[in-house]
Amino acid sequence: MPELHVVPPSPTDVQGTAAALAGALRGYFRTGVTKTLAWRLSQLDALEHLLKEREADILDALRADVGKPETEAFTSEVGMIVTEVRHMRKKLHLWMKPERVRTSMIAAPGRSYIYREPLGVSLIMAPWNYPFQTAVLPLVGALAAGNCAVLKPSEVSQHCSAMLAKWIPKYLDPKAVQVFEGGVPETTALLREKWDHIFYTGNGKVGRIVMEAASKHLTPVTLELGGKSPCIVDETADLDTAAKRIVYGKFFNAGQTCVAPDYVLVHDRVHDALLNRMVSAIREFYGEDPKQSPDFGRIINERHHARLTRLLEGVDVATGGQTDVDDRYIAPTILKNVNESDAVMQEEIFGPILPVISVPNMSAALAFVNRGDRPLALYCFSKSKDNQERVIGGTSAGGTTINHVWMHVGVAALPFGGVGESGMGAFHGRHSFEAFSHRRGVLKKPASLDPPLMFPPYSPRKLRWIKRLL
Ligand code: NAD
Repeated sequence: MPELHVVPPSPTDVQGTAAALAGALRGYFRTGVTKTLAWRLSQLDALEHLLKEREADILDALRADVGKPETEAFTSEVGMIVTEVRHMRKKLHLWMKPERVRTSMIAAPGRSYIYREPLGVSLIMAPWNYPFQTAVLPLVGALAAGNCAVLKPSEVSQHCSAMLAKWIPKYLDPKAVQVFEGGVPETTALLREKWDHIFYTGNGKVGRIVMEAASKHLTPVTLELGGKSPCIVDETADLDTAAKRIVYGKFFNAGQTCVAPDYVLVHDRVHDALLNRMVSAIREFYGEDPKQSPDFGRIINERHHARLTRLLEGVDVATGGQTDVDDRYIAPTILKNVNESDAVMQEEIFGPILPVISVPNMSAALAFVNRGDRPLALYCFSKSKDNQERVIGGTSAGGTTINHVWMHVGVAALPFGGVGESGMGAFHGRHSFEAFSHRRGVLKKPASLDPPLMFPPYSPRKLRWIKRLL
């Protein structure tokens, strides 16, 4: 069995280290150890121990990196993974069973099955905004499906990266799972190696780099990207509920959430009422001065702070707008009188700034959405079932919650992933298990029965029978 000799990469030998790591994990995968149900369950148990015993370290790292309030950090990073691990542990033995499917007449007699086999060695690349969850949640799927994996945390969230590098190899089987820290040179080195699957979460620009690198080895990819997720509020919506839920979902993690509502399209008849209620909701949640609130997060770094501050130039602020670079603070901000051509509408905002745009009717809202890329998420607040279905049928998006924001992400039975510019592939629950598995079609035929229909010499009579059996 090959031994792992992983040392922190030096700038000069980063490629060698990446190659050694990929080679050692592949060697271990080939032993077959990771394929057994017992090994998979042992890793899920170990992960749950890590989550319980190192919870304080995880929350500390998240506060240090993104100033995450404890409740936000626990629910969206730790709690979500605990739920996923428990779900996997309960269902795994069922998912691993060969699935019997119908055998077509032409292949009869015989029995047909789908066997799920692990893809092999996976590279999991995570971003900084949910730096623990975006690394570990895919890992749960990789382990449940019997894979080895390398985690590449974001160098931007350095505390979380160091914490993962410290604890993951101490809890999980270090021959199967390793953390490879670093920035662009390290990631570039990893991407040159051959993997059996690359699971990337982050922006679309790097997504393209990942896909290009993967194409050299014909490696399948899952790309969990972002984009501008719209939120439509029609004239029938319960405005008190809509205001609270939109404000909650937008300003959670200071707006640095891939599925945060990026902007609001509201029917002009209820525009002012919604705006007023959202301003009140901000005051209710974060007080008169959100900067003092322990429940409001901070911007990851100065670069993103400067980017967001630029988006505030020359706009009409309904509430908020204050910034403090030393504290990496940007107030929860709502913008009014926004035009489609404004800078804030040209890119994913990814911060606590919410443009609100008035539209005359649902057709205008749908046309607005459809002029943009297909988003990762799309929300609709409406009491009208017709309008709800119109929004779902008249647009395309990675996922949708009706009358709330991003709650669909927490439903384990639903696939989570993007479409078009917002990504490809999906995960969560069984979909994670599937994302890291190959579905192998297996037909088992009896050795004895051997109808001569298919064999030469062919004849018109045989062909007539074959046509009947199709
Ligand atoms: P990031 O800058 O941390 O980058 C993500 C990963 O790419 C990191 O591991 C980083 O090291 C690597 N990377 C960066 N530049 C690279 C390069 N030139 N070559 C190779 N690798 C490189 O994070 P980010 O991209 O700023 O993350 C924010 C984006 O991620 C947003 O668009 C957000 O919507 C999206 N996101 C999506 C999801 C999802 O589940 N769909 C979740 C979280 C974030």
